[in-house]
Amino acid sequence: MACGRFAPSPSGRMHLGNLWSCLLAWLSARSAGGSMVLRLEDLDTDRCRPEYCDQVMRDLEWLGLDWDNEPVYQSRRTEIYAEYFHRLEQAGLIYPCYCTRAERLAASAPHRSDGVSVYDGRCRRLTPQERAKLSASRRPAWRIAVPACSISFADLCQGPYKEQLDRDCGDFILRRSDGVYAYQLAVVVDDALMGVDQVVRGRDLLDSTPRQIWLNETLGFSIPEYAHIPLLLAADGRRLAKRDRDMELGQIQSLYTAPELVGRLAHLAGLIPEYAPVAPAQLIPLFSWNKVVKDDLFVCAQEGTFGL
Ligand code: GLU
Ligand code: ZN
Repeated sequence: MACGRFAPSPSGRMHLGNLWSCLLAWLSARSAGGSMVLRLEDLDTDRCRPEYCDQVMRDLEWLGLDWDNEPVYQSRRTEIYAEYFHRLEQAGLIYPCYCTRAERLAASAPHRSDGVSVYDGRCRRLTPQERAKLSASRRPAWRIAVPACSISFADLCQGPYKEQLDRDCGDFILRRSDGVYAYQLAVVVDDALMGVDQVVRGRDLLDSTPRQIWLNETLGFSIPEYAHIPLLLAADGRRLAKRDRDMELGQIQSLYTAPELVGRLAHLAGLIPEYAPVAPAQLIPLFSWNKVVKDDLFVCAQEGTFGL
């Protein structure tokens, strides 16, 4: 590999799960002699704020993680996404979906094991007259029509993974009805144009990967390697989330120094047999995907510590 990435969404202060992803992504890239880019995924302007972007950078620096080149802001790249969206449109793959949220739910078969429903493609079959009629009263979202094909890949952390695109994923949204380009398009275009050839992120995004691989192929990009790391779970089994202000960095910093936190995360990951405070750079020679744990981990808050 030559280039990895940090891709945080600046929708709040980073929490422990974000730091965990950033640390492992950085170690994977640096241990292979790769560079690291920082991309702020701030397309959702309702939730993202410029001050959170600055905070993300300060927090990464606090932890001891660095990156190469200037940070990239997705909110400044709309024209680039528009260009690739247009290419897919020219290829006849994009169609308007007029379904409301309620209709979308009704129009989907709950197919996947994770309970995520698959859109049944009803707006793909609308006649031009029906489209004209609907467009008078509704602003559509834009979907891409997926073929009946199976996508498989070998994840560096989770092993082999496979999906039948039409059955397990369905036609997915590339542009929202408010005009915002979807994460699925932006992430594929950006990783390709930024030269990212290794994607390290949480296991919750494993099932987005087949559609991203297919988009890469469709746009003529080469396909990065992927590592989907275990999630950190709260004591009740919930995934850590920003909205709960769960283990966000402000709190963590009052309990641990950066080397203490990095040492605990490295021990949790399986990179060091005993806990010891450590700087990220000291872990570079110790990093290997063979060592990294595969199953989700419980990190519980107890008596002013995080049970790390
Ligand atoms: N911005 C996404 C997040 O913070 C990560 C997307 C990705 O790594 O592909 O959850
Ligand atoms: Zn629809």
